[in-house]
Amino acid sequence: MTVPNPQQKQSPEGAKSPLKVLLCQPRGFCAGVVRAIDTVERAIEIYGPPVYVRHEIVHNRYVVESLRAKGAIFVEDLSEIPQTEAPVVFSAHGVPKAVPEDARSRNFFALDATCPLVTKVHREAELHFRRGREIVLIGHAGHPEVIGTMGQLPPGAVRLVETVADAAAFVPKDAGNLAYATQTTLSVDDTAEVVALLKARFPAIVSPHKEDICYATTNRQEAVKRVAPMVDAMIVVGAPNSSNSQRLREVAERSGCVKAALVQRAADIDWNVFGDIARLGITAGASAPEILVEEIIDAFAARYAVEVEIVRDAHEDVFFPLPRPLRGTVAAE
Ligand code: SF4
Repeated sequence: MTVPNPQQKQSPEGAKSPLKVLLCQPRGFCAGVVRAIDTVERAIEIYGPPVYVRHEIVHNRYVVESLRAKGAIFVEDLSEIPQTEAPVVFSAHGVPKAVPEDARSRNFFALDATCPLVTKVHREAELHFRRGREIVLIGHAGHPEVIGTMGQLPPGAVRLVETVADAAAFVPKDAGNLAYATQTTLSVDDTAEVVALLKARFPAIVSPHKEDICYATTNRQEAVKRVAPMVDAMIVVGAPNSSNSQRLREVAERSGCVKAALVQRAADIDWNVFGDIARLGITAGASAPEILVEEIIDAFAARYAVEVEIVRDAHEDVFFPLPRPLRGTVAAE
């Protein structure tokens, strides 16, 4: 049933008001998320349920519930898993080195769904460490990716910097022997400010070979920057614990769209905010499935005469193969 919306403008005849929806492209699933979800689904197909997954495979409740219905069991710690031959999948965010070691000690069959672009950051951090450099990690404290990257090296080897203020206060052990890395899902603009300050203070600091903020994060933010000034409001489909989704909402606000909201499902839309607009931007975080974007558009279509236009900012064709133990079985199909 469609809930009557007191904010909805209607013509005297009761016709719906027009709403132009500008749909950001690219949006939604990135190659790392597709690979992580495929890893769990493929493992369930090959080995049968249950398949254990450490942490939410990606930060999206809909995805997690869908996989749970197929036979995935989500845990936060390997100690929650009974002795088993079932696969144990590590999430796309990456894990500290202690986790695969723990899995080995428990004789678990581990499948690592860490995004290869996160693994790249891990390997670069290790390389810096081997070369005797202190590593500054720009990221958000407590995010699983940050915990995973810091956990590649002994305690104290990686120092976390979250803000420009942190970068200003940072005191290195040796200013001439520093490198930096970043979380893959940060705000491109905020990170550029932090990096600029670190470079100004420590000119010898070693940069990543290629930006750590990944192509998907960058492209989704660029698409939002393009659409935000053209609309009255913006919806980012995504979860509150999804870093890249939170950044998209911030980017929309900073690009001139004051009505920007992070929304998980259509039921979460605040119609006091979105009930009286003529142009709406929609995007989705890298862990949000397209079906939820469609659900949101349908909710607007129930209230407005919706016309959808896709605003394309970049073309993506990135693909990551499944973890090795699952690959042969795919090729055999
Ligand atoms: S957002 Fe980027 S780093 Fe994270 S899973 Fe997707 S492609 Fe990988």
